[in-house]
Parts: sequence; structure tokens; C-alpha cells
Amino acid sequence: MIAVVGSLNLDLVTPVPRHPVPGETVLGGDIVEHPGGKGANQAVAAARLGGQVALIGRVGEDDAAGVMAAAVRAEGVDTAHLARTPGVPTGRALIAVNPSGENSIIVSPGANSRLTAADCRAAADVLNRAKVTVLQQEVPDEANHAAAELAGGIVVHNPAPAVEGVVPPRHVDVLVPNRTELAALTGTPVPDTIDEVAAAAGKLSGAGAVVVTLGGDGLLLLEGTARLHIPAFAVQPVDTTAAGDCFCGALAVALAEGRTLEQAARWACAAAALSTTRPGAQPSLPHRDEVEAFLKR
Ligand code: ADP
Repeated sequence: MIAVVGSLNLDLVTPVPRHPVPGETVLGGDIVEHPGGKGANQAVAAARLGGQVALIGRVGEDDAAGVMAAAVRAEGVDTAHLARTPGVPTGRALIAVNPSGENSIIVSPGANSRLTAADCRAAADVLNRAKVTVLQQEVPDEANHAAAELAGGIVVHNPAPAVEGVVPPRHVDVLVPNRTELAALTGTPVPDTIDEVAAAAGKLSGAGAVVVTLGGDGLLLLEGTARLHIPAFAVQPVDTTAAGDCFCGALAVALAEGRTLEQAARWACAAAALSTTRPGAQPSLPHRDEVEAFLKR
């Protein structure tokens, strides 16, 4: 079983002719709603890839809460530890997209920001039994710290989004930052070359292993003194939204099945590459048979 501790956001996406400047009103096109949030995305990714997944998080008591809970439940995710928060809105992301595809995003964490260490203690049984526990940074540090301590299996921490001042949990087995998140964690400029990435990752202390995802350059795996660059699968990306979430969900599934970190990282690379060939966040997340077919190409 895989435990995902994290956020659920209803994404409200509006096309705009251009992004407004302060004080300005811009007329946009029709709004589209999608289930999102890193916790929900990673839980859905893992479930579609064959994982048995429980999501620990918070929603409000509004309509969006029902939408979000139903969306993850429809994928087979266990929502027994998805708590309702009276008087607080469910998390939402307000996303404006201009004609060249550039996003400007406001995240209103709402109920996600109310997830507590006590919520994780209430899910201690799940966390203790989980072969893999997955964390991100859209919920308070105290929840992540408690979850990492209670986790009986492998702890995977995706320090995303890169937020200043976050204190990453101790007891992390596999840290999965992208280049920007690695820079935020180490206080270095965003590394470009593989050598720069390795040098920045070398400044991290604590995590057992580090997997730096490098977009179209694949990933760099650092375990002890070993360092391995795994190139990305050659695909024609149409939308890389949620590639990192797909990668983390897939990594968790493969680790829960007992694969080595290198095997799991290669498999997750395939799943994430496939996700970039389709538009959207959750709609782009592949099912297991699709990943197996992709690997046999
Ligand atoms: P994030 O979405 O968190 O910024 P990345 O952009 O690093 O994460 O992508 C995560 C993983 O998705 C990469 O390690 C890679 O395996 C895969 N991926 C991302 N972009 C591409 C691409 N253009 N081609 C193939 N695979 C990709």
C-alpha cells in the first residue's frame, strides 16, 4: 500500500488574451474546472499505475470538496483519511493561460493549509503499514514531519513547489526535487549541467538518496557516492504539466513492488514521458498497461 500525504486543489483554468497588470480587468474565455493539487495528482498517478493508494489530506465543506473527493475515489484511491474542514474553502488554483500557453497561477490552499500533525497521527495505522509514503510541500511542514516519523516504509519527499523557508522532514529515504526545487533547498543558483546538478545535490544532507528530475534531460540519481544519469525517453511533449507528479506516483508504485531505486526511476521516467504527450494534469496521467505498451515500442 502507498500513502500519499498532500494537497487537493480544484484548478479553475481561464484562457485570457493576455495577463492583467495590477489594477486591470481582462475578459477571459469560458472557465474549465479540473481536479488537481500535488497530493491528489500523485495519488491518482500511483492508482492508475496499479498502486493501492490512501490519500491523507483536507478539503472544505463546499461543492469543490465533493468534486475533489469524488475525483480521487473514482480512481480507486482510499479517502477514509480525507478530512472535511468546517468553514474553510477547499483548495483552489486560479490559472490564467495566455495564447502562447504561459500560465499565471494563484493557489489558495484553503483546507490544505489546515492539515495537522494530529491528522497524520489519526492515520498512523495507514502510514505505518504503507510500503511507501509520499510527501510534497503544499501542506504544512508539521503534517509532513509527523507523517515521515510515522511512516513504516520508504519515505519519498517531493519538495514541490519550491517554497522559501520550508523545513524538509528528517527521515526521508528518497528526495525528488527538480532543478528549481534543488536550488531552493541548497541556496544555489538553478543548476544547468549534470555536473552542476550533482554539485548542488552534494550540498544536501539528510536524505538517503536523491533523484533530481531534469525535464527533457531525464534525471540524475545520487545514492551514496554513486551517481547515475538516466536520459529521458524520446517523445514529442505537448504539455509537461504534472510530469513531476506522474514521476513521483510511478516511483512510489515501483518501490512498493520491491524494485530497486534505479529500476523504479527508469520505470517512472517512462510513465512521466508518456504523461507529457497528453494535455492537462490528471487527464494526462497514464494507466499501467499504457506504460508497459510504451516500454515495448
Ligand atoms: P516537474 O514537472 O516537477 O518540473 P520535470 O520537468 O523534471 O518535473 O519532469 C519529471 C520527469 O518527467 C523527468 O524526469 C522526465 O523523466 C519526464 N519528462 C519531463 N519532460 C520531458 C520531456 N520533454 N521528454 C521526456 N520526458 C520528460
